[in-house]
Amino acid sequence: MPTETFEFQVEARQLLQLMIHSVYSNKDVFLRELVSNASDALDKLRLEKLRDDALDADVSDLHIEIDIDKDERTLTVRDNGIGMSYDEVGRLIGTIANSGTATFLKELKEAKDEGGAEGLIGRFGVGFYSGFMAADEMTLVTRRAGESQGTRWTSRGEATYTLETVDDVPQGTSVTLHLKPADPENQLHDYTSPWKIREIVKKYSDFITWPIRMEQETGASDGDGDDAEAPGPETLNSMKALWARSREEVSDDEYHELYKHISHDWREPLETIRLQAEGTFEYQALLFVPSHAPHDLFTREYKRGVQLYVKRVFIMDDCEALLPPYLRFVKGVVDAADLSLNVSREILQQDRHIRMMQRRLTKKVLSTVKEMMTKEAERYGTFWREFGTVLKEGLVTDSENSDAILAVASFATTHADDEPTTLTQYVERMKDGQDDIFYITGESRQSIENSPHMEAFRDKGIEVLLLTDPVDEVWVDTVGEYQGKRLRSVAKGEIDLDGEKDEKADGERAKQAEEYAGLLGWMGEQLGEDIKEVRLSTRLTVSPACVVSDAHDLTPALENMYRAMGQ
Ligand code: ADP
Ligand code: MG
Repeated sequence: MPTETFEFQVEARQLLQLMIHSVYSNKDVFLRELVSNASDALDKLRLEKLRDDALDADVSDLHIEIDIDKDERTLTVRDNGIGMSYDEVGRLIGTIANSGTATFLKELKEAKDEGGAEGLIGRFGVGFYSGFMAADEMTLVTRRAGESQGTRWTSRGEATYTLETVDDVPQGTSVTLHLKPADPENQLHDYTSPWKIREIVKKYSDFITWPIRMEQETGASDGDGDDAEAPGPETLNSMKALWARSREEVSDDEYHELYKHISHDWREPLETIRLQAEGTFEYQALLFVPSHAPHDLFTREYKRGVQLYVKRVFIMDDCEALLPPYLRFVKGVVDAADLSLNVSREILQQDRHIRMMQRRLTKKVLSTVKEMMTKEAERYGTFWREFGTVLKEGLVTDSENSDAILAVASFATTHADDEPTTLTQYVERMKDGQDDIFYITGESRQSIENSPHMEAFRDKGIEVLLLTDPVDEVWVDTVGEYQGKRLRSVAKGEIDLDGEKDEKADGERAKQAEEYAGLLGWMGEQLGEDIKEVRLSTRLTVSPACVVSDAHDLTPALENMYRAMGQ
């Protein structure tokens, strides 16, 4: 097959331009990205071989190799992992289908609109293309395990790339960077220095569970060469699984690098959660709460779940069975001791031990949020802003933990304009004689604050929670109460804010009812089928009338929702 030339997608081209012209000081992260891809490729091959023994692939010495050629000014990262077919190279390398990159571009665009792109460029690492920060040309040669033909991909990071088939390619992938000319002013980015490579690998990729090897330089001896022993390759990383090490042994930076590797996020996580379970079913978990909600969190495409390992062997990404859907933003690793390496998603969904694990991990995440709330108010604020809406789904779906979720939830309130309140704080502020927690649901704070239903509450200074997330419409009905206090909608049923025992008021109302009976009857006739009843109200102070639902009716928004779904 002849060499074919292809054009990059528009988005890919934009990204490449950014890489090439980036004035970003931390170019080093490109190596982390290439090593991370190599490590993924080794994981994939081991797994495929495990599932299909007939696969014609050598898995006897899976590793990553870094080669420096000072004279040619090249740096090569090689793995003997799964490799890619010709089609896969075109599909995976020629496009920016992966979600991390898509998110990055989206945020970049938003930042640009707000004039803040500079800061953002300084904080990312977006996969394969980041190689162009250090190289003016990249070559990738690969052969998929089990196939015989290899493929070469080359690009100068401009508008096009080339693809050709090649023979005699070892299994796996090698990526060669033709490094940009050396900058005599700045030795900091000399990627032909073994010392520099060692430093970067140690910093960003130490936890990678495959050996990362580099040929050692031959000593200074310049004898006849025959007896100068080649020292052989050195392994640059410690390969220790971070989740298996004790907290004291691991620095925050190391945890954060692992987070970036598994989440494809380039920012620090908000929270790191460790859990070691001993006993009959042993496992270790290292979970992370991201600092930002991914843009596709509420789409069907969002891949939820954490990585599953069995005794240090990677089994699968996105293992949904380990956490409930409302914790789908949590990333991390769970390493179980007693599972079969051949375990499938279907089996996991039904496994009793996995269910126990899910319960334990769920409680651990919720208790961590609780702790954040009491000890780190600001961090908790970020958490709730990013993930509160998702977490509230649990109020509907997880009755076992709904109290724990309510305890860490906050809501907009009439008590303050911009500070949300927790239910505990609300209860502490309740007026003497107030038995219930009042709320109102609707589309926006503005529209519900001006609702006639609020008049009497405003008048009497009674606090009302302002619930504007669609999910709020649902959970308020399933939950019912908090710490023995009923949750009540200001727009439903009869509300008596003056207390039950006010007999004088009762008498007055009875008198009024008699007085207005004629008007109420006439209104009832006029409105006919559209309403259930017309009655005098104590909840209005200014508006002449408002529409109220029965205590057990659906709210208007829910009614619309059901109608839209055709029910
Ligand atoms: P990401 O790793 O986030 O998916 P990258 O840009 O780093 O994004 O890589 C894109 C895709 O190219 C990977 O998902 C993988 O399918 C493929 N790929 C990259 N490097 C390798 C490699 N060394 N071996 C096999 N496949 C690779
Ligand atoms: Mg990658």
